[in-house]
Amino acid sequence: SIIVFGSINKDLVATAPRLPLAGETLLGRDFFSVSGGKGANQAVAIARLGIPTHMVGRVGAQSFGNELIANLQAAGVETENVFVDETVNSGVAIITVDDAGENQIIVIPGANGRVDLDDVERLSRLLPTAQALLLQLEIPIPAVLAAAKAARDRGVTVILDPAPARSDIPEELLSLVNIMTPNEVEAGQLVGFTVDGEESAHRAADLLLQKMTRGTNKFNNVNLKCLLIKLGERGVYCATPDQRFFLPAFPVSAVDTTAAGDAFNAGFATALAEGKSLKKAVVWGAAAGALATTKPGAQPSLPDRFIFDKFLQE
Ligand code: ADP
Repeated sequence: SIIVFGSINKDLVATAPRLPLAGETLLGRDFFSVSGGKGANQAVAIARLGIPTHMVGRVGAQSFGNELIANLQAAGVETENVFVDETVNSGVAIITVDDAGENQIIVIPGANGRVDLDDVERLSRLLPTAQALLLQLEIPIPAVLAAAKAARDRGVTVILDPAPARSDIPEELLSLVNIMTPNEVEAGQLVGFTVDGEESAHRAADLLLQKMTRGTNKFNNVNLKCLLIKLGERGVYCATPDQRFFLPAFPVSAVDTTAAGDAFNAGFATALAEGKSLKKAVVWGAAAGALATTKPGAQPSLPDRFIFDKFLQE
């Protein structure tokens, strides 16, 4: 099975002709609410691809908690270890989108911000039967770090999506992960220069691979170490200590790239869980990422296994 330890959010989306000014009340066009959060998106994506998936995280009892859990379950995600926190709201994103597609977003972490070592303890019980642990950065870093340690102790592969972008990820966390999957912005934050193509991705990979393989912890030099820089419609740059390659994106007509990165990680992890090679896993990631761009929305655009297999065969 695969474990996803991360955020679970409700996105509340309002559309309007333009974004409101400070102090202004504006008549909007439409409203909808969708389930999101990078953690939940990745869990849903993996479950849709047919892999037993455990979500570990928190929702709030005061708002949307039951709805968010039901949404995960509907996709086939195991939610026994999603803790319902009685004292807070679920994580929410308040999103405004105007006619030009410009947006404004306020994220309130709520229950996601409460995730702590108790959750890591529940996660640890799942490790003996897990093949991979997927992490992102929408829950507190100390919990992410503890989960990475627990997984590596058990020999479980750790995949870190260092999103949202930040420049202060502890070196220890970088040295613990097996696979790290930044997009260009996230890679740029981590290395301190602009990453916007193959050449700069190559330089960023030199630096980041060094951080991933450095340190005195007992896990280095043993397992897979791989950096994947997601370059959007251009594709993905892959670097390991002994090979480098670039995989162009699958040509599709993209309508909405939301959750392409989450789908990529899901496709990649699915291939690893099924024992495929690294190269094949990158192809599967790119296929899932490409498919996710062909439909609007985050979770609704994530492909199921039938669509995914058919796409790979073509
Ligand atoms: P994120 O959503 O994290 O910013 P990207 O936008 O880089 O990540 O997308 C992740 C992966 O999905 C890319 O590396 C690529 O393989 C695939 N992808 C993204 N956008 C497109 C696109 N327009 N056409 C085809 N594949 C895409």
